[in-house]
Order: sequence, then C-alpha cells, then structure tokens
Amino acid sequence: MAELFYDADADLSIIQGRKVAVIGYGSQGHAHALSLRDSGVDVRVGLHEGSKSKAKAEEQGLRVVTPAEAAAEADVIMILVPDPIQAQVYEESIKDNLKDGDALFFGHGLNIRFDFIKPPAGIDVCMVAPKGPGHLVRRQYEEGRGVPCIAAVEQDATGSAFELALSYAKGIGGTRAGVIKTTFTEETETDLFGEQVVLCGGTAALVKAGFETLTEAGYQPEIAYFECLHELKLIVDLMYEGGLDKMRWSVSETAEWGDYVTGPRIITDATKAEMKKVLAEIQDGTFAREWMAEYHGGLKKYNEYKQQDADSLLETTGKELRKLMSWVNDDEA
Ligand code: NDP
Ligand code: MG
Ligand code: MG
Repeated sequence: MAELFYDADADLSIIQGRKVAVIGYGSQGHAHALSLRDSGVDVRVGLHEGSKSKAKAEEQGLRVVTPAEAAAEADVIMILVPDPIQAQVYEESIKDNLKDGDALFFGHGLNIRFDFIKPPAGIDVCMVAPKGPGHLVRRQYEEGRGVPCIAAVEQDATGSAFELALSYAKGIGGTRAGVIKTTFTEETETDLFGEQVVLCGGTAALVKAGFETLTEAGYQPEIAYFECLHELKLIVDLMYEGGLDKMRWSVSETAEWGDYVTGPRIITDATKAEMKKVLAEIQDGTFAREWMAEYHGGLKKYNEYKQQDADSLLETTGKELRKLMSWVNDDEA
C-alpha cells in the first residue's frame, strides 16, 4: 500500500524558513506561488523577458524577477516551465546559481528521469506534483481544502529532503487532502503511460474509430457524435464518482451487458501487448528522446497531426453541435 502523509505529518515552518523561487507562472506556477505566499512563505517568481504572465503575477502581489535572479536569491527552486524547455532554462539560469544545500523542485519528473537535467551532488532534488490542474489546486487551497499531491526525492543531499518536500506540499494545501510518496521514475513512467494509453491517446483513438465506423456505415455524423463523444462525459463522471460499479449501476442493463461482452472484443490481448510495448519505449527513454527531437526540431509532425484532427468530420461536426448546447463552454478551442 502507498504511504500517505497529512497535515499532522508535515512541518510548515521548514518551508517558511527557506527562500522559494517559482520559475514559471502558468497553470501550476501561479497556484504554487500564490498559495505558498498565503502560507507565509518568502516567494519570488522567475519569468523570462517578454513573459505573458508577468503582469498577472505582479497584479496578484508577487515580486517578479528573471529566472536567474530568482534562482540566485532562493534556496528552494521550483521549476514550473513547460517540460521541453526546462533543460534550457536550467542550463541558462539555474545551474550556476545552485549552492550546496539548495533544493531543486519539480512538478513532473521527466527531465530528471531521462537525464535532460543533471543536478550537482550537493543539492536536494524533490518533486511535489498535485494530481490536478493548477486552477483547481489554487481554488481548493483558497477554500481551505487541497488537491492530493505526490511527492518524491531523487537526491537527498541534506538528509531531510522528504521533510522539505512535505513542508512544501503543506504550503500549497496538498497535505490537507493527502500526499502519496512515490519516486521520480514511478511518477514519470506512469504519467506518460496514462496520458498516452488511456487518458488522451487511447480515448481519442477510441472515439475517432467509433465515430468513423458509424458514419462510414451511413449514420448521421451528428448522431454518431452524441453516441461516441458527447456521452463519454456522463460515463466518465460516473466512474470518477464511484468507479466502474457506479457507472454500471446507472446505465441500463442492456448497456451493462454490452459492456461485458463487447469491451474485451475492442480492447483485446493484442491491444494489451501493444500497451506493453508502449510502456517499454517509455521506460527505455525512446519516447522522451523522440518527443524532445520533435519539439526542438520545430514540431512539424505535431502540427500535421493537430491539423488532420482539426479538419476531421468528428471535429467539424462537434463544433457546430456544441453551439446548440448553451451550457457547454467551448472557449478554449
Ligand atoms: P504552463 O504552460 O501552464 O506555464 C508555463 C509557464 O512558464 C508560463 O508562465 C510561461 O510564461 C513560463 N515560461 C515559459 N518559458 C519560460 C522561460 N524561459 N523562463 C521562465 N518562465 C518561462 O505550464 P504547466 O503549469 O502546465 O506545467 C509546469 C510543470 O508542471 C510541468 O513540469 C508539468 O508537467 C507540471 N504539471 C502540470 C500540471 C497541469 O495541470 N498543467 C499538473 C501536474 C504537473 P508565459 O506566460 O510567457 O508563456
Ligand atoms: Mg503528463
Ligand atoms: Mg445510448
């Protein structure tokens, strides 16, 4: 069983006694910086020249300096810029500002797990990763609650890196909900696997294949859209609230029977064998290397895939249909 830690297990005064730099002010960065500040922690935000989020951070009462200045002032440095540029930000602004006894923090383990960042021996290397988007992390904190976090230590130079990580997690409300101990390796590999195989990749491919099967058989795209994409939310909400059991309790017996007999014909032993190959490519670093090459090579294939799906019948049908649903917020698309 996982080891869990709560408010009583964490000492907030540890992080209150340190100087924290939060590098980046996006989804996670704003939540960490504001909640740490409200927890009585000395926080500065490090942002690059021309950053879009700088004005917002200053409006919200935070002091914004360059990433290098923030790293030089602080002894706990949390890197919350996009994963593919973390190594560059580290090389340019952080590396030369690390002193023995400092701590380098991450919200995701990718750059440490695959050695894109190699911190020196004298510093603590920790992770505090909320299991939710930054805006939920901040809202929960403000409401006196918290989003569960996972915490890990890759390098324990001081001998007290985990206590420091727990203290940081308390500062953003994480220990109010519970903090699970993990490792950089476990967090990184399971995160990449989950998003590729189930959450984003698997789900999107399932929706597309279902929609195409119906429309190729002559059914109306609008009807296929409702059946294969729109209704997915209702099913996922039920699973989120009460697992597969609650979903099956809520749907009709006919749907439940179809679930049992047809599901395994769609996700077959061959699918699972492919999942194992995907996991192996995550574990041996193939995926991470290829993604970094794609990102730094100008995102050519990435943009092709994006465009292909944007032009698909599924997406163009959905765009029109969502206009009929006043309660559906399509702002971000
Ligand atoms: P975002 O893309 O939301 O935010 C990135 C921030 O970094 C922006 O403020 C951006 O500024 C800033 N930035 C970009 N380049 C630089 C630079 N060179 N120097 C300083 N700041 C820079 O990132 P996320 O919050 O999504 O992700 C941050 C980390 O948190 C990642 O490791 C991610 O894996 C992890 N994480 C994210 C979760 C999420 O919910 N999004 C959940 C759990 C972990 P600008 O405003 O100018 O673009
Ligand atoms: Mg991820
Ligand atoms: Mg139905």
